[in-house]
Amino acid sequence: MSDLRDLYQEVILDHSKKPRNFRSMTDPDSRAEGYNPLCGDRETVFVDMDGDVVKDVSFQGAGCAISTASASMMTESVKGRTRAEAESLFERFHDLIVGKDSPGESPDLGKLAVFSGVREYPVRVKCATLPWHTLKAALAQNGATVSTESEGPNAESGGA
Ligand code: ZN
Repeated sequence: MSDLRDLYQEVILDHSKKPRNFRSMTDPDSRAEGYNPLCGDRETVFVDMDGDVVKDVSFQGAGCAISTASASMMTESVKGRTRAEAESLFERFHDLIVGKDSPGESPDLGKLAVFSGVREYPVRVKCATLPWHTLKAALAQNGATVSTESEGPNAESGGA
């Protein structure tokens, strides 16, 4: 368990300092914005589809180390997958970090398994899932702003 914790810190630190696919797209097929008012994380996820396959995915925004690292690793994980595969990956990822599954039960998650450490910090679960909720909204092409707090203000995400 302590090995996993070390790995967790190392991987998350690396991805939060050097986020992968951290860029906007000028003409994405779809995009969505996510906001986690509990932490202040804001992220925009851009998706470029090739039929049903996620051809390219990127993100921009400002957030804590967990949300940034999660978004970074998410983009690496879902690129080249179908919409359905991406959604099922999110379900398994979610089950893992809320503690429903132990890391060994989700071998398909690969590196994403390091986020199982987040379950020890319940307030961080929403940081880790924010980019995934946002991706899901982008894949649904509803262009909505998603908030981790459903009762939260219908944020006019002005400017930026
Ligand atoms: Zn956060």
